[in-house]
Amino acid sequence: MSEPDFHLDTLAVHAGREGLDELGVHALPIDLSSTNPLPDIARGGESYEALTGGHRPPDDGSNVYGRLWNPTVARFETALAALEKAEDAVAFASGMAAMTATVLALCAGTGRRHVVGVRPLYGGTDSLLAGSLLGVEHTFCREDEVADAIRPDTGLVVMESPANPTLELADIAGVVAQAGEIPVVVDNTFATPVLQNPILHGARMSLHSATKYIGGHGDVIAGVVACDAETAVALRRVRTATGGILHPLGGYLLHRGLTTLPVRMRAQQANAQRVAAFLSTHRAVSRTYYPGLDADPRGLLGTERSKAQLRGPGAMVSIALTGGYAAAERFAGSLRVFTHAVSLGGVDSLVQHPAAISHRHVAPEARPGADIVRLSIGLEDADDLIADLDRALA
Ligand SMILES: *Cc1c(COP(=O)(O)O)cnc(C)c1O
Repeated sequence: MSEPDFHLDTLAVHAGREGLDELGVHALPIDLSSTNPLPDIARGGESYEALTGGHRPPDDGSNVYGRLWNPTVARFETALAALEKAEDAVAFASGMAAMTATVLALCAGTGRRHVVGVRPLYGGTDSLLAGSLLGVEHTFCREDEVADAIRPDTGLVVMESPANPTLELADIAGVVAQAGEIPVVVDNTFATPVLQNPILHGARMSLHSATKYIGGHGDVIAGVVACDAETAVALRRVRTATGGILHPLGGYLLHRGLTTLPVRMRAQQANAQRVAAFLSTHRAVSRTYYPGLDADPRGLLGTERSKAQLRGPGAMVSIALTGGYAAAERFAGSLRVFTHAVSLGGVDSLVQHPAAISHRHVAPEARPGADIVRLSIGLEDADDLIADLDRALA
């Protein structure tokens, strides 16, 4: 079901389900094996060689060991790759494990020591690079400064669009052009493959915190990178060596989550559009960050550039409160339908304060303002969400 002529909604329901008829099952099978029988020593050895090298197991071989390969996870990877218009995908135990493996595979694994981070980035990504934990040097820059930030030993450019939490849109093709030969990874968590396919705009990799929209129900921590076949081999080699593979139950839940991803995304986006319109005229709100508002001073969704890149504004809305931090404190504590919690992209609405929590460790010059709160809009009735916001803003 990866035929390019199928539409996204059809792929979301059917991709990665090859061979279920032969197994005599209709639902996705869950293989929890931590170890697997070896056919004989020679073929066991060949399988081990293939898997530790980042390749698939040979047809007559064995999956050997659950850190090297899991069929339930592999089915999810096939499905996600189809949605991202990518040759392959590699799933990890979290979004940060996916980002770590990406930096290790593209930098440490190739002898390159430098990463360019295009700000704004998710707080965890920003501090992973800033903390030099992975033994790479970094340069942070804005999207129009990438060409100048590249060094002879740069191995990777990391970017995000729409970015967390102010929904800034960065020009993927523009960054790719500046990066030249250097591979670009786009954090596509906010847009999902429903609204954006970074690989179609020249990015080498599209990375997701699958914890968010792809899982969609707040019950899985996971990450995934969609990419070409060669990069997938490099990522799997790092994954087998460092042990960041996704648990098969997570693979099952994410694969099931994909079937409703397009429907959830469109419904949450429709709610977000209404919520953003309400917030943008409220006197307690000094600014509404949502790419779908005509009034958004950046007007980014209206430009030809972003129309080509992003197919819809998504379901994340941030607001700056006229009352500053004190108002944000009262607001987050007064909502009843929204849960005060980090994370995003689930069926239920969440509110959080980025400067104090998710972006706490980001350097002050790149940290979101203390007056900003971020809303993840869920599947509740938009009228109930608006009434809840109205009450809390009052
Ligand atoms: C949550 C998030 C991550 C990190 O993913 P985890 O699954 O929490 O490790 C990375 N990027 C973005 C944009 C996120 O929202």
